[in-house]
Amino acid sequence: MSRQYDVAIVGAGVVGCAIARQLSRYDLRIALIDAAEDVAMGASRANSAIVHAGYDCPPGSIEARMNVIGNALYRQWADELEVPFKRCGSFVIGFGPEDEKVLSDLYDRGVKNGVPGMTLMPGCEARAMEPALSKDVTMALFAATAGITCPYQMTIACAENARENGAEWLMNHPVTAMRREGDTIVITAGGEEIEARYVVNAAGVFSDEVSRMLGDDSFTVRPRKGEYMLLDRKSTCVETVIFQTPSKLGKGILVSPTVDGNMFAGPTAVDMTDKRDTSVTPEGIAQLTAMSKKSVPGIDLRSVITSFAGVRAQPSTGDFIIGASKVEPRLIQAAGICSPGLTSAPAIAGEIARILRVSGLSMVEKAGFNPHRSAIPEFRNLNGEQRAALIEKDARYGRVICRCETITEGEIVEAIRRGARSLDGVKRRTRAGMGRCQGGFCSPRVMEILSRELNVPMTELTKFGGESKLLVGKLKEV
Ligand SMILES: Cc1cc2nc3c(=O)[nH]c(=O)nc-3n(C[C@H](O)[C@H](O)[C@H](O)COP(=O)(O)OP(=O)(O)OC[C@H]3O[C@@H](n4cnc5c(N)ncnc54)[C@H](O)[C@@H]3O)c2cc1C
Repeated sequence: MSRQYDVAIVGAGVVGCAIARQLSRYDLRIALIDAAEDVAMGASRANSAIVHAGYDCPPGSIEARMNVIGNALYRQWADELEVPFKRCGSFVIGFGPEDEKVLSDLYDRGVKNGVPGMTLMPGCEARAMEPALSKDVTMALFAATAGITCPYQMTIACAENARENGAEWLMNHPVTAMRREGDTIVITAGGEEIEARYVVNAAGVFSDEVSRMLGDDSFTVRPRKGEYMLLDRKSTCVETVIFQTPSKLGKGILVSPTVDGNMFAGPTAVDMTDKRDTSVTPEGIAQLTAMSKKSVPGIDLRSVITSFAGVRAQPSTGDFIIGASKVEPRLIQAAGICSPGLTSAPAIAGEIARILRVSGLSMVEKAGFNPHRSAIPEFRNLNGEQRAALIEKDARYGRVICRCETITEGEIVEAIRRGARSLDGVKRRTRAGMGRCQGGFCSPRVMEILSRELNVPMTELTKFGGESKLLVGKLKEV
């Protein structure tokens, strides 16, 4: 007999996971389905991590509404889920009269969108707040409500909280077909058939393809790549998010601190044909170098420790696609969620719950819903007394595995217990391998722990699932 659910969510990015969390407040059988081996493997893994204020979206758009509501919900979601979130504020900077006109237009848009806490200020005032800014900045738009978070931590935390409240994760389940049978959608995924009364399409850049499986081809999604350079922690020289004036392709290249104390420059905006292309190119790096130095001349690009790219899901409609499909009413779209999707996720989750209720799903609140999810203890951030207490409880917290980031065996074992199955799964949950040496030292040790805890041979372990095997065999055999 096939598994049966009230709601199957296709896509375990920040949008799908936030929806799963929101729906787990109700007495519903929920499946969170993803093709990848883990949650947060799409755009939610590699983006700018900004909780946008909301002045950039066209007034009256779904994006604008979701952004402003999402921003307002972030503090509560971050606190309940123990996810880092810092309302550090953002600047959009202008370099002369043409940019200044864009800045006042952005301010007006922000007012129309209901964004609080915006100030237009001369360059000298902006530099007094953010001394790293270029001396050539003539005007700036400051948005006090903008902030930074960790996108994959937010995604993982939503998914964990949903699971604690009864939702099931079905990873390694690529959805390849769907059909309607009576009041049910039958989903073919990962070699099995799954039945659901409603399907939520949160498949990111593939959401057009998932929609087409149920006959709705009313939109397409174009991939737009964004490349980044990440700097070592000691080189961080900004306290706020610094944007340049936006272009037709997006919000432009920014320089920003991260919640972990690093700093990055990015993203580029390159329209692609391949939805899976996350390569970083020499042209991308050259553009990031020139543009980041324009905003922050003192940026120390000798301290770059890695580069990466993410792929935005640009919908043909020019706006988020949220609502019941006109072709198949049991298909609820949370599709084409480009930027600011990370910011909007909590608001989109609430909106999808409302749409499901209006669509006829009975939604009775669960008495035992627990909104709280505990983060994995972070040994590096504890004081001496707290560290001693943790080691007393579990000696594995006394063995440091990742020296750059001071990540202990205890944290890695806990990450595996919560669902990490690959090197990157451990990395995203603990930061092991995210430091200056980028895993050069700790990767073999993390692999030993993964092998031991999961009881699988080292040769079966992957970097991020699928075919990304780390070892091919013993040197003697080769
Ligand atoms: C370069 C860049 C910068 C950005 N910066 C910001 C920012 O600063 N602030 C902000 O708010 N937003 C930002 N965004 C946007 C934000 O990252 C996205 O809106 C958000 O991550 C989208 O989440 P999602 O869950 O819709 O998609 P994803 O995270 O892509 O998840 C979709 C999931 O669907 C799964 N899937 C696809 N097809 C199938 C299938 N057939 N079967 C099963 N599973 C399937 C995929 O494996 C994937 O895990 C940025 C995006 C990019 C790329």
